[in-house]
Amino acid sequence: MKQLHAPLAWVEGRWQRDVLLTVENGHWTAIVPGQLAPPDAELLAGPLIPSLVNAHSHAFQRAFVGLAERREAGQDDFWSWRDRMYALALRISPQQLRAVAAQLYAELLRGGYTQVCEFHYLHHPAQGEAFDDDLDMAWALASAAEEAGIGLTLMPVVYTRSGFGAQGLRPDQHRFAADADWAWRACQRIQAAGLPRVTAGVALHSLRGASPADIARLRQLVGSDDLPIHIHVAEQTAEVADCLAATGRRPIQWLAEEGLLDARWQLVHATHATAAEIEAVAASGAGIVICPGTEANLGDGLADLPRWLHHGVPLTVGSDSQVTRGWVEELRWLEYGQRLVLRQRNVAADPGTQPSSAARLFDAAVAGGGRAAGLGLWGLVPGARADALVLNREADGLRGLPDEALLDAVVFGSNGSPWQSVWVAGRARPWRAPQRVGEAFDAAMRELWGTG
Ligand code: ZN
Repeated sequence: MKQLHAPLAWVEGRWQRDVLLTVENGHWTAIVPGQLAPPDAELLAGPLIPSLVNAHSHAFQRAFVGLAERREAGQDDFWSWRDRMYALALRISPQQLRAVAAQLYAELLRGGYTQVCEFHYLHHPAQGEAFDDDLDMAWALASAAEEAGIGLTLMPVVYTRSGFGAQGLRPDQHRFAADADWAWRACQRIQAAGLPRVTAGVALHSLRGASPADIARLRQLVGSDDLPIHIHVAEQTAEVADCLAATGRRPIQWLAEEGLLDARWQLVHATHATAAEIEAVAASGAGIVICPGTEANLGDGLADLPRWLHHGVPLTVGSDSQVTRGWVEELRWLEYGQRLVLRQRNVAADPGTQPSSAARLFDAAVAGGGRAAGLGLWGLVPGARADALVLNREADGLRGLPDEALLDAVVFGSNGSPWQSVWVAGRARPWRAPQRVGEAFDAAMRELWGTG
């Protein structure tokens, strides 16, 4: 058992003083405000806040960041980006993926995430390769997470067809092929491996990538198990139009009306949703994962944040394509997108219950994180893994501020990561990854792109 004492901590949605936190077996067992520090407690040097779950990541896409920011001709959109991204997806090896993911996960930890949900669909060897184990790519991610010290929720993705009405995948999608039985076996093997801080869920690529029969089969296999089930949905208007043409219904409408959704489901993006769809998701208990940095980068569109918040739908954020790798920037983008479009300020705030936009978004992301990652409890609550961030009051943007403005300034006034340490399972993690992590990433980039 060990005890930590914070001069100030964000507990139950507000700043509380002199908080004594007890850690046993890497989990909080007690969090009590208004306590003097016992002689053997470790004194934290700054205010303590929960870390966040990164609820949507494709680690391999870290190797593509910065390499798709030019428009050489014609129009550039999600689909032209995807064609170029496939060039990477089709050749990255398990060793390269491990190197890329280890660099990414170290960056995500510095960005304030201590658990990452991997929406993993690069299952099979590239042409000419052979794997010892058909989960070699998944084990590469687990090994990278272990090296970085971040928690991992690995979600093997069901991907069986290239679009609505297609009979299968295109030849350039062969690495992704996985039916519900394959993904379920992979999920069970990951769980059975018992790796520290690694858990598993399942995912469906999208309604265009998985048929109604695939979805029914996966639901049958999962049964009543309490596992996260993630799906990309309504990210693109073209996807909504294709779904309407194929089924007569919009994607979220289809999921809701088929009676598929419950609190285990996480709808990734959910960008293009009508008022009726949002109400249906709220009634189901499912959550949404917004990826503001990626959605902005890919020109996806803007979610109806005020309506999702109004209905209390669990909401988390994800780094997705990895163009942003810290939650401060994601929450800032989430609010700023609304301000730009609506020409209003503090759109996420609710004057009646929470007048701080930062606090409303942050608390939503803390509350939604545990379920999205399949961990149940999350944040500064007894029973949750003892993860947290210690703020640096001398960081740019935090100096000289009163306590009550600190979280607002973290989200809207700081540069980078305004914390001095990141804790996972009751231990402060090294701020910088070992040199070898960066060197292995550089080597993988050279092999993949001939750079450097
Ligand atoms: Zn994604």
